[in-house]
Amino acid sequence: MPVLLPTTLAEATAMLARHPAATLLAGGTDAMVEINDGRRRPGTAPDAVVIALDRVAELRSWQHDAEAATVSIGASLTYTELMAEPFVSLAPALAEASRTVGSPQIRNAGTLGGNLGTCSPAGDGLPVLSALDAMVVLHSADGRRALPVGEFMVGVKRTALRPGELIARIVVPTLDGWQGYAKVGVRNAMVIAVASVCVAFDVPTRSARIALGSVGPTVLRCPEAEAHLDAALDWTTMALDDDDVERVGRLVAEASRAITDHRSTAAYRTHAVSVLARRLVRRATERARAA
Ligand SMILES: Cc1cc2nc3c(=O)[nH]c(=O)nc-3n(C[C@H](O)[C@H](O)[C@H](O)COP(=O)(O)OP(=O)(O)OC[C@H]3O[C@@H](n4cnc5c(N)ncnc54)[C@H](O)[C@@H]3O)c2cc1C
Repeated sequence: MPVLLPTTLAEATAMLARHPAATLLAGGTDAMVEINDGRRRPGTAPDAVVIALDRVAELRSWQHDAEAATVSIGASLTYTELMAEPFVSLAPALAEASRTVGSPQIRNAGTLGGNLGTCSPAGDGLPVLSALDAMVVLHSADGRRALPVGEFMVGVKRTALRPGELIARIVVPTLDGWQGYAKVGVRNAMVIAVASVCVAFDVPTRSARIALGSVGPTVLRCPEAEAHLDAALDWTTMALDDDDVERVGRLVAEASRAITDHRSTAAYRTHAVSVLARRLVRRATERARAA
């Protein structure tokens, strides 16, 4: 199969404009599995090529804008990079989620842009990006547009990407408050989530965010549970009554739209997101009070 090797973003989008049916390749940890399984055949469609993005420097950079309180992450940053500083300080839940992905080999190759490109409801980066209200910046030969991640993720492995577009950056607000990510799977390591939760707090705006993975066609936010936390939490001490923690768990379970499949049952997934959400909320309030 023909493989094109752009070295700049402009070159990559120009190639994509010439070959709209091209397969974009970042770390290849999803795409190569599909190609090896025969589920994806990039060389067979007329004019189909692979555009490998690993030499595009703009996609491998990051910038922290302290004034705007954002960190802009190039789509080709790997999980290994996201597990380290400055992301541990700027987006701790993203670093935490990155640590849970696959094995060291997968984390060295797999990228956040690839996680978004695949858009599996079980993608570990996605609940974090949703809870942090990240924006996805898309480039094409015609220009750029930015979409809230909730609008980018359309359904199971379906995104709002248009032909000729690629994911260039993910702009993540740096919140001021505790944030964490947890998942459960069928074993402890190298596991695709059967349920996952990100909880994040922004103390200055007194807003709590909860996002769920693997319990719907795409990542789900929990507006009722978030509103309950906003109102019930003592934002000065981060104290929260046990009854309120339990209520958050129930509201999270109600927000879940889990299905039964080969990995788990709907009932277990619904129970698991409720437990994970309560656990994360307790962790947040205990850490804040211990500090
Ligand atoms: C053994 C193994 C374990 C894994 N464990 C986990 C896990 O624990 N958690 C998890 O979330 N995932 C896991 N994965 C899946 C995978 O590693 C992740 O989804 C990863 O983020 C994919 O990134 P990539 O760079 O390898 O993407 P690629 O495979 O290169 O691409 C994935 C998709 O995104 C598209 N794409 C890539 N870059 C762009 C871009 N810039 N713009 C537009 N589209 C783009 C590609 O065309 C393709 O459709 C695992 C995979 C394997 C093989």
